Amino acid sequence: MPLARFQFVADLVIAMIRHDKGIPKAFEPGGVEKKWYDFWLKQGYFTPVIDPNRKPFVIIMPPTNVTGELHLGHALTATLEDIMVRWHRMKGDPTLWLPGTDHAGIATQVVVEQQLAKKGQTKEEIGRENFTKLTWEWAHKSRADIRRQHQLLGASCDWTRERFTLDEGPSKAVRTAFVRLYDRGLVYRGERMINWCPRCQTALSDLEVEHKDIIGHLYYIRYPLSRREGFVTVATTRPETFLGDTAVAVNPEDERYKDLIGESVTLPIIGKEIPIMGDEAVDTSFGTGALKITPAHDPTDLEVAQRHNLPLANILNTDATMNENAGPYRGLERFACRERVLADLEDQGLLEKIEPYSHSVGHCCRCQTMIEPRVSLQWFVRTQPLAEAAIKVVREGRVTIMPEHFTKIYFDWMENIRDWCISRQLWWGHRIPVWYCQDCGKVTVSIGEPAACMHCGSKHIIQDPDVLDTWFSSALWTHSTLGWPENTDDLRCFYPGSVMETGYDILFFWVARMIMMGLEDTGEIPFHTVYLHGLIRDESGEKMSKLRGNVINPSEAIDRYGVDALRFALTIGSSPGNDVNVGTDKLQASRNFVNKLWNATRFILQSLDAERVESGAVERVSGRVLDSQRIEDQWIDSQLNRLIGNVTELMEDFQFGEAEQQIYDFVWSKFCDWYIEIAKVRIRTQLTPSPLPFLVNTLEKSLRLLHPSMPFITEELWQNLKESLPTKYEMPASIVVAPYPLADEKSFGPEAERAMDSAIEIIRSIRNVRAKHKVKPDRWIEAQVYAGELLSALITEANMIETLAKVRPLTILSRQERKPTKDKALVLVLTEAEVVVPLAGMIDRSAEEQRLLKEREEIKARISQLDARLRDDAFSSKAPAHVIEKEKQKLAVLEDTLNRLCQELSQLSSPSGDN
Ligand SMILES: [Zn+2]
Ligand SMILES: [Zn+2]
Repeated sequence: MPLARFQFVADLVIAMIRHDKGIPKAFEPGGVEKKWYDFWLKQGYFTPVIDPNRKPFVIIMPPTNVTGELHLGHALTATLEDIMVRWHRMKGDPTLWLPGTDHAGIATQVVVEQQLAKKGQTKEEIGRENFTKLTWEWAHKSRADIRRQHQLLGASCDWTRERFTLDEGPSKAVRTAFVRLYDRGLVYRGERMINWCPRCQTALSDLEVEHKDIIGHLYYIRYPLSRREGFVTVATTRPETFLGDTAVAVNPEDERYKDLIGESVTLPIIGKEIPIMGDEAVDTSFGTGALKITPAHDPTDLEVAQRHNLPLANILNTDATMNENAGPYRGLERFACRERVLADLEDQGLLEKIEPYSHSVGHCCRCQTMIEPRVSLQWFVRTQPLAEAAIKVVREGRVTIMPEHFTKIYFDWMENIRDWCISRQLWWGHRIPVWYCQDCGKVTVSIGEPAACMHCGSKHIIQDPDVLDTWFSSALWTHSTLGWPENTDDLRCFYPGSVMETGYDILFFWVARMIMMGLEDTGEIPFHTVYLHGLIRDESGEKMSKLRGNVINPSEAIDRYGVDALRFALTIGSSPGNDVNVGTDKLQASRNFVNKLWNATRFILQSLDAERVESGAVERVSGRVLDSQRIEDQWIDSQLNRLIGNVTELMEDFQFGEAEQQIYDFVWSKFCDWYIEIAKVRIRTQLTPSPLPFLVNTLEKSLRLLHPSMPFITEELWQNLKESLPTKYEMPASIVVAPYPLADEKSFGPEAERAMDSAIEIIRSIRNVRAKHKVKPDRWIEAQVYAGELLSALITEANMIETLAKVRPLTILSRQERKPTKDKALVLVLTEAEVVVPLAGMIDRSAEEQRLLKEREEIKARISQLDARLRDDAFSSKAPAHVIEKEKQKLAVLEDTLNRLCQELSQLSSPSGDN
């Protein structure tokens, strides 16, 4: 790519031959978006060319659940990743963004079950095979939707490498990883207390349980002593579980119960005798201090039971109805049983009292059914050894988590990690690769389908009916998508990846497990940076929810505002880990920005046309682009290069939201509001040299800077601009593959910046005065400018000040030439100049005096502040010399301003100054 030619694009503006008639008046996003996306796909830009000499940039997209439509969170993920990917592609890195979808086990199964329920059917009625077929149909449709919606958003991912967690490759990776863990003793089957969802009929991991505060009751139940008079009272929130009690535990130090240890109680109704025993873990302050022990249905009780070798008594079926151990209550649903139990206890006078009690209760994160803790035979991953390795790579800085404060949360969680229950009693997912032998009873664990038991050779083997937790396949996503366990070209070239970008809410569900499994399977980290984005909230910072009615649907937002505006609204001002507020105002502002760019380009294209027509004008544009003596030209170029430098730094630092903010400010204010307005004056008055080289250069580079954030509008405008330039044959076919701009420090012009700042300040303050005094926009007013060092620079800008501030006659003189104002006049004391605006009959003298007095006070305050700072030893001893020097200069300027203000005040109050 001939980068050099870009910078001198405007050399050739002279030779310009332009045939089309500019762009339409208004931007219509829809058609433009489709046109360019199709073009990009056809050009194959999103498929990287493997270059062994260049380090690739790789993002594996978090696989989207095949459960339904995309929401704003998906749009945020897609936009942030696309920004990184497009930026790296423009920098010339081989860039891979691999898209994919997740079968999302329980979530998808629940969706399909709900659809069946609408037809009055259950999955059991249609059978496993038919149900799986139905779910596959749903998944195919859903995948197509997800692909379409990502393309709509402009996501520049490599669709030729798209993956689904249930594809053959990723499925083989799942079986391989399982078998390897099993062989290393890191996967085991055991009876453990797990979270059970009675509706979904499956085990859930701790992370799939949502805890909600519930206002319930604490029931006090009397258990009669078996061998003597009296009773022990226990307190519980789940009275029906007394049927599964196998002991009552008291603290051996508790005076109330000391002599009861070794005795026993008889459970009401079912008449079962259970011991009273001492256990130091019993909290004497809870309830009555006597604890009922239900080991099969409570994790803490299970621990107590294991310490004392107590039996387990399971009283529930898997659907939360009571089983044969519940005696007369067998067959009842758990809450119906509770009612009956309470009534019966009451009848027998064994219900002592009921107190209101608020406590936290686990619910299934998919169907919101109350969880039933349950001892059950499940498969687990022994996570501790995996976690140790995963902690190490973050501690050593090989994997960085952004924002940083999540690192501590990561360590806390990983250091206290519990074994991961990976079996699910579902039909949708990866079948567990374990076969049970019906003859010898041993298990065969195998990647492929075994023909016989590996222990006794029996053919009577049955595969485990369960599937794996959906997060098991997600944990392998970074390498299974690239072909692991096969040693493919993709795996060698693109693993480890670069950045894992996702929401902070799935740091543990997913990110931590990817680090563990990536290290376990490949011996290498899966990515070097974790970028966690925040949640999306509405304008006022409220969480978006259907209930509140503040949900923004991405498709609707795209229809109304266009994709670029949506992407910009989602990301401008955002930073890693912080929640993003989005509402109509932000969307509108982003659309306005798109329109501003459109109009600026339209003006520049029209001016290019006009230059061609007037051959004389073409002659004037000569020499190299960056070779102008004009202050505003040097200024815009300096500001542009400073912007490029800042943006590059911010992008490298993952501060995309701030980079966008700075580009926005530059384009909107400096380029459109100032430079283009000045250029218009120059073009209209045929002032030489023509500003076109700078207009073209600034626009072209701004479009490239913005391309990662706003891919469609920038491509549309860039292509139009390109068509108008004689260099078009040397420019790339698309902005997608044009180089990202580089800052040129040689373009920095502090002198031009100082002069322009002053000119802008003069124009702004005159405009303010006009507005304050309600001067009609088309009326010229008189003004005199008195300047010091900047006098000659300001004189060259006289034409511009005159037009933009609407002042005529305008006199620009040196400060020494200043004479006392005879007529009533407004005096504006600015940083580098004073402006005198005679406003005969318009000024309220005392108000003017008040204004000047106020300003004088402010300046005085700033002087004393600065003065104190300079006198402060701590500052003067520590600050570098150039900083101190700068502060001293500031002080000198302020003192000068104060002086001039005092003079103005004395003139205002002197009788000769006014009449
Ligand atoms: Zn459930
Ligand atoms: Zn066998």
